[in-house]
Amino acid sequence: MVLEKLGNNLKNTLSKIAKSVFVDEKLINELIKDIQKALLQSDVNVKLVFELTKKIKERALKEELPSALTKKEQLVNIVYEELANFLGGKASKIEISSKPYKIMMVGLFGSGKTTHCGKLAKYFTTRGHKVVLVGLDVHRPAAMDQIEQVAKQAKVPVFIDKKEKDVKKIWNSFKAHEKKYDIILIDTAGRDALSSDLIEEIEGVNELIKPQERLLVISGDIGQAAQQQAEQFHKSCNITGLIVTKMDSTARGGGALSACSISGAPIKFLGVGEKVDDLESFNPEGFVGRLLGMGDIEALLEKAKSAISEEEAQDLGARLLKGDFTLIDLYEQMIAMRKMGPLNKIVEMVPGFSQLKLPKELLQVQEGKLDKWKYAMGSMTKKELEDPTLIDAKRIDRIAKGSGVSASDVKELIKQYHQGKKMVKMMKGGKNMDKMMKRMGGMGNLGGGKQIKFK
Ligand code: GDP
Ligand code: MG
Repeated sequence: MVLEKLGNNLKNTLSKIAKSVFVDEKLINELIKDIQKALLQSDVNVKLVFELTKKIKERALKEELPSALTKKEQLVNIVYEELANFLGGKASKIEISSKPYKIMMVGLFGSGKTTHCGKLAKYFTTRGHKVVLVGLDVHRPAAMDQIEQVAKQAKVPVFIDKKEKDVKKIWNSFKAHEKKYDIILIDTAGRDALSSDLIEEIEGVNELIKPQERLLVISGDIGQAAQQQAEQFHKSCNITGLIVTKMDSTARGGGALSACSISGAPIKFLGVGEKVDDLESFNPEGFVGRLLGMGDIEALLEKAKSAISEEEAQDLGARLLKGDFTLIDLYEQMIAMRKMGPLNKIVEMVPGFSQLKLPKELLQVQEGKLDKWKYAMGSMTKKELEDPTLIDAKRIDRIAKGSGVSASDVKELIKQYHQGKKMVKMMKGGKNMDKMMKRMGGMGNLGGGKQIKFK
């Protein structure tokens, strides 16, 4: 697959969302960092990367939650949408709006013009069009033989004149035949760089042929440098679209794609190999969807949903008062406590509370442990989270395997749960509970970004 490494990195990143219990600022920051790393490794321009991740972060923090989505789904969706926008948004297709429809290929030496004439010929032929190739690369000695070969592979006719060096003459003698075809693909000569010489030649051919499409063929292996090339060609030759080639054989494809997508001309196709079938029409949304393995993500989100629902995790206070103390409550408590500062301080502030004998371990949970528990909880079913007494040795093994956390950590979590439950019972018996709860509610901010509300 194109950009496989980038895709894998992004997929791993998104799977963190599914594994996490809550979407909070910490998770968003982690996600942003991961996305930046993945894109930079794929040669995307630093400035572009930061602009993109800034947008993702802003949306993730500010956007209202659409009622149909959970916070996790919303976050995945934001990443997906912004990446798709980053690569040009909506697909830009070639519409064969008149016949014959003339498509001219331009670009530097070796970018893949001739090869892609063949690929496009096959592409349009299989869609029912009558296609012909016209070879106008009169500079390179072997160019005519190559396009002949390419036409043969694509099983389309080709118009060339091996002896003629005047492009105008070749075209004029072809013109008598043009009505026979739906699509005329014109191969032109390249240069090492976009010289004034090349611009002049392209302008001349442009004037002569007046093609409906001028496609710039650009090699993906130049990475970020594609931006300058695409912009220059766009300015001088008024190109209508881009084909980014060699996407199969470069680690810099992310840089090339992102660079091209801001050049002002849309990417229409990707070249993904040397054979005549190695062509993909480019659709940013579909491309990003595949890159992120949308199928996998849906499955992940599905799994995340069945393991824990955030709404259910939210109204901790109400549930504490009702007495259904679940593992989620325990986790929320840990987070809230950590944010409030040392519990002994709070204990001092709350009359009556200081008389309760709270288990020490419950009050001093280290960060690392909390993370492990979070992963372990991510591998539990909803039933298990609500009623941890169900979790026997066999289930502990399964949870440990599923979350990559040791069985003893899972056991410890369950032990903490039982202690926490006892504590809640004690608190329910306490006289100054309301006051204490109010104070906790005012100070503690849950991982989900919502304040605990106590009635
Ligand atoms: P031109 O000078 O622009 O006409 O470029 P060519 O069509 O002759 O291609 C130059 C070289 O790049 C050839 O060896 C092609 O086989 C190769 N090439 C073109 N497109 C691709 C592609 O998408 N992937 C790979 N791996 N090679 C390609
Ligand atoms: Mg060529």
